[in-house]
Amino acid sequence: MNVHEYQAKALFREYGVPVPDGELATTPAEAAAAARSLGTGLVVVKAQVHAGGRGKGGGVKLANSPAEAEKAASEILGMTLHTPQTPPEGKIVRKVYIEAGSAIARELYLAILLDRAAEKFAIVASTEGGMEIEVVAAETPDKILTVLVDPNEGLQDFQARRLAFGLGLEAKQIGDFVSFVRGLYRLYLEKDCTQVEINPLVVTEDGKLFALDGKLNFDDNALFRHPEIAALRDAEEEDPRERAAAEIGLSYVGLDGNIGCMVNGAGLAMATLDMISHCGGSPANFLDAGGGVQEEQVKAAFKLILQDEQVKAILVNIFGGIVRCDLIAEGVVAAANELDVRVPVVVRLQGTNASEGRKILQESGLALIPAETLAEAGDKVVAAVGSA
Ligand code: GDP
Ligand code: MN
Repeated sequence: MNVHEYQAKALFREYGVPVPDGELATTPAEAAAAARSLGTGLVVVKAQVHAGGRGKGGGVKLANSPAEAEKAASEILGMTLHTPQTPPEGKIVRKVYIEAGSAIARELYLAILLDRAAEKFAIVASTEGGMEIEVVAAETPDKILTVLVDPNEGLQDFQARRLAFGLGLEAKQIGDFVSFVRGLYRLYLEKDCTQVEINPLVVTEDGKLFALDGKLNFDDNALFRHPEIAALRDAEEEDPRERAAAEIGLSYVGLDGNIGCMVNGAGLAMATLDMISHCGGSPANFLDAGGGVQEEQVKAAFKLILQDEQVKAILVNIFGGIVRCDLIAEGVVAAANELDVRVPVVVRLQGTNASEGRKILQESGLALIPAETLAEAGDKVVAAVGSA
C-alpha cells in the first residue's frame, strides 16, 4: 500500500526524521491560511497524488506570499497531473500540501529497500538527488552508494557514516545524517515498509538536513498489524479495477496487453502470463481467483475482465485441486450467458472432474475454445486475438 507525501512526512516526524513544517489544504483559501500560519514567506505548494515526478508535471510550485500560495493551489487543485509515474489518463489532484520553503544547497537521495538476493536491507544513497534514480543508476552507476544491513545485526552507525562520507557531507552534518538514517530504518522495520524513498534529501544553506520528499510503501500482508497505517489508505488513488477486485476477494493487477486472464492460484497465474508472452501474446491482467474459487467468483472475474476495453480474447486456466472443474465450467457458462461475452474465450480445465467440466462446456452451445495443455491454450488464445 502507498500513502501520500504528507502522510509519509507525519510518520517521518514521529520517528525523528526532520521534515519542514507543513499543512494540508483542499481549497485555495485553506492554502492561503496555511501559508500565513507557517509564516515563512516562501512556501511550496505540492500536489498530493500517489505518483512521483510531480515537479516536472507542474504539481509543485513555489509561492512567496499567502496570495501566491492561494493562486498556486487554485492552479494545482483539480488539475489532471501527468507524470512518468501516473497512469495514461493522469491523476486528478484533490489535496495540496503547503510546506515551509527551504533554501536548498544540495539535493541528495536516500532509500531503504529489501535486497532479496542478498537477504538484507539495502540502504541506497546518492549525491544526485532530485533526479530520477533509475537514470542515475543506468548512466552513472558509480554515483549510487549502497550498504547492506543484516536484519539480525541491525543498522550499525559505521554503515550510516560510510554513506555520509560518500555523500561528501561536512563533519558537523555526519551526526545528523546518522540519526536521520537511524530514524528512517526504525520506521522501515516497525511499520513493515517495503520501501522508503527520500528524493530529495536536502542540505539547506545553513547546513541542516531535511526530507523534502517522502515515499513510503507498506507490505499489504503486514497491514493487519498496523491499523493506523491501514487507515491512511486513500481509495481514490488506487486503480478502480484493483479495488473492485479486492472487494470481492480476487487478486487482480491491470497490465497493458489484450488477453484477459482468469486463473486460480498465483503461481499458475504467473505461469499463464509467461506462456502468453512465450506464444507471442500480451496479457491484459493478472487475475488470481483463489484456490477455492466458486461459481460466483468466476462470474465476478469475467465481469472485471470484460470491463477492460483492451481485451480481445480471454484465457481461462483452472487447475482443479481444491475446486471441481465441473463447478467452474458451470460458472463459465453462466457468466458467458449472462454477460454477453463478445470475445473468443479459450478454456483449459485440468484436475478434479476435468472431463465432466469439458462436457459441460461442449454441451453449452457456446463458442468456447477448449484446450488441454497450457502451451496449447497459449497458442489458441494468441491465434484468437490475431483473427479477432
Ligand atoms: P516530485 O517531483 O514528485 O519528486 O516532488 P518533490 O517533492 O521531490 O519536489 C520536486 C522538486 O521541487 C525538488 O526536487 C526541489 O527541487 C523542488 N522543491 C521542493 N520543495 C522545495 C523548497 O522548499 N524549496 C525549493 N527551492 N525547491 C523545492
Ligand atoms: Mn521527489
